[in-house]
Amino acid sequence: MSKMSNNDLTHLEESTNDVIASLPDTNLHRSSSIGQISIPISSNSSNSSTQTSSMAGSMAPPTLCIPITTDAPTNAPPAPPSDSSSPTPSVPKTPKPHHMRKPSSKRPRDMMSAATLNENLNEGLSSSNPPTSLSFTRSLMFYGHGTVTTENFQACKFLQEARDMRKKYCMLKGVYTSPSLKSTPLSSIQYSFSKEGVLSLRSSSTSSFLKIPSIFDFMSDYNRLKQICQDGATRSFSFTRLQLLSSAFKTHIIANGHVEMEAQSRLLGTDFYRTPKVDNHIHLAAAASAKQFVDFVREKLENEPDTVVLEEGDTLKEVFDKAGLDADHLTIDAFNVLADYSVYQRFDNFNSKYSPFKLAQMRRIFLKVDNHIEGRYFAELTKRVFARHEQDKGHRALTEMRLSVYGMERQEWLQNAKWVLKNWEGGPVLSKKNKWLVQIPRLWRIYKFKHKDSVSSFHDMIENIFTPMVEATLRPEENPEVAELLKNVVGFDSVDDEGNPEAPCCTKHPKEWTTSENPAYAWQLYYLWANIKVINGLRSSKGLNTFAFRPHAGETGDVMHLAATYMLCESINHGINLDKQVSLQYLYFLDQVGLSISPLSNNFLFRKMKDSPFSKFFRRGMNVALSTDDPLLFHLSDDPLLEEYSVARASFDLSMTDMCEIARNSIMQSGFSDTEKREWLGKYYKRGVKHCDVLKTHIPLIRAKFRAEHLALEHMMLKLIASDKGDGVLEMMMGQYGASRDAHRGILYENFITVPDGETVWMPGQTEPPSMDAPQPSVSFESKTEDEDENNKTK
Ligand SMILES: [Zn+2]
Repeated sequence: MSKMSNNDLTHLEESTNDVIASLPDTNLHRSSSIGQISIPISSNSSNSSTQTSSMAGSMAPPTLCIPITTDAPTNAPPAPPSDSSSPTPSVPKTPKPHHMRKPSSKRPRDMMSAATLNENLNEGLSSSNPPTSLSFTRSLMFYGHGTVTTENFQACKFLQEARDMRKKYCMLKGVYTSPSLKSTPLSSIQYSFSKEGVLSLRSSSTSSFLKIPSIFDFMSDYNRLKQICQDGATRSFSFTRLQLLSSAFKTHIIANGHVEMEAQSRLLGTDFYRTPKVDNHIHLAAAASAKQFVDFVREKLENEPDTVVLEEGDTLKEVFDKAGLDADHLTIDAFNVLADYSVYQRFDNFNSKYSPFKLAQMRRIFLKVDNHIEGRYFAELTKRVFARHEQDKGHRALTEMRLSVYGMERQEWLQNAKWVLKNWEGGPVLSKKNKWLVQIPRLWRIYKFKHKDSVSSFHDMIENIFTPMVEATLRPEENPEVAELLKNVVGFDSVDDEGNPEAPCCTKHPKEWTTSENPAYAWQLYYLWANIKVINGLRSSKGLNTFAFRPHAGETGDVMHLAATYMLCESINHGINLDKQVSLQYLYFLDQVGLSISPLSNNFLFRKMKDSPFSKFFRRGMNVALSTDDPLLFHLSDDPLLEEYSVARASFDLSMTDMCEIARNSIMQSGFSDTEKREWLGKYYKRGVKHCDVLKTHIPLIRAKFRAEHLALEHMMLKLIASDKGDGVLEMMMGQYGASRDAHRGILYENFITVPDGETVWMPGQTEPPSMDAPQPSVSFESKTEDEDENNKTK
């Protein structure tokens, strides 16, 4: 996951300058339908070849996909504005645009003939007439003369600086790994925790194999990032861009929503149900629905009343008898696990919901791995949840559940490993449809309380968390269970109530943290990040799997938690607080940082559905997925992910195209393997949003293209403005986008002939196009009648 994300982002960044110039305008095809802005291309048009040939485009081998990038060298210089007197062969009689853009005289690189383009696009599609439309929304994004201000320049410089920080930490540009690590045998590598609280790997000949930015570096960068985010110019610029992205999406849907639906209906063989989707964010203790859980407990009470379940020697029946509970109490309401209004803004009440009947011992018996029955009930219940996902229900849902490692005791990893790998009835607690993450609760205050009589520091917690991991990586033969478990873990999460009071950020080393005060979120995150990165460096050098860092962030509390995760993390869970900080929101958009959002969970805990920013984030093109968080508490059915999608669809007016895009995001964010992602998203999925295999993802090309174009456009604009070109930005962008826009405009005017309003519309063949300063014709088809259609044919 970590590698995949890095590749995506790097690729995205490197190819920015080529992206739009190489966009194949694949939606410009024949269509018999006419929308408000969609322009039909008459079926007998002989211009289709010339129309599309002006579009720069290249098609990679899979013809069902839109490879938006080319194989051309990355960071190629922008095409110079060309001489306006040069003919544009591909766009006959294109009227002059509104402003001073000069059409490119050169045929863009990698241009593909319209015939080939059409052939490629048609091939594999179920219909010989793929739906078509134009998206004019990109024109909303152009800058005009005089609009690039000094403030814009400052904002773009700052935003680029922020993005470089993410590269330094999350994409490891700031981490040095010695090449000799790869060739050094595991048995020769020694480790220790430095006084700085970070793992150090060395050998007799190498003092340190990895160098990680220190807490001083991190805090300095973090404070700088906070400054940038709070800067007025940056906030204004980000706000404007985000507003424009919202506006562009709205226009796109008004214009092309029906085309998307039509396109989806033609993608035979796939649909939303068959498209895989990953529930990226589930806490294991709450993975079963309340109904599944109650049924399970009832079954155990009936079939195993005499099983000793507590260390004190109590049987299951005795436990229930002592609590005054009988079979009649085995109802969902009596269990009292479902979230209600008592948990809103009350994380303490929320946590108590994990205990049926509010009895801690029930939680211990049924939802813990380290109890008297070695977690057998918990394993059986979890396997029942897996079985539900593995059933072929015509709905492909996968999961990423969290095991807990608290750092209270050194043997927690071993307990988890034994529980997962034990040969329970039906085998270990593994499923090909589930990946494990490890969640580390930020519970220093409780750790300190438990050890109040001894001198202990935060450093001890770090050692408890990471020592078993490094031991199992260096000496797998001595730690076979943990070594095996690590192969099944794809990432790390960090969890707790972000609203808890926290100490100010500092550069203290963990050994110096001995008070019971809760350390700052960013401080804790740095130490998790640093140690995970060292272990990743070691594991990747030995060909082992590595771990993504995907913590909870921005659920509540200080919005600047999201600045720390922007720097350090591949993706996050929640992130709803991004709607309180536009600079960060824009940065998350630019780098497509994944947000796994759980609107139903938020509704009960921190943000009512009507106030959820999910819909806003999605429409702006952020990388959002839907997840369930705690099905036990929030969902009523045994298909919690489908329930989550269903509620979101109704609450946020999501189309089925939207739903498929969200499903695709969930796979991109997940830790499933490269092989699985290629199977589900297409073999070029690493190109991120710029690539879409329509048949696998069930996302129509027109949507995929819209997203790719707008992301690329923002990247390009940011770079150009940050390079201090001033109004030259306009010229450079026009050079970049000219061919593509010519093509759009060319097709528009070529097809005005079919518009039944001859008085106001320029027709091909007219000697002079109308002045572009004049009001533009209104292209509306709502009032068109059959008679008018008939008249039109006779013209
Ligand atoms: Zn959660």
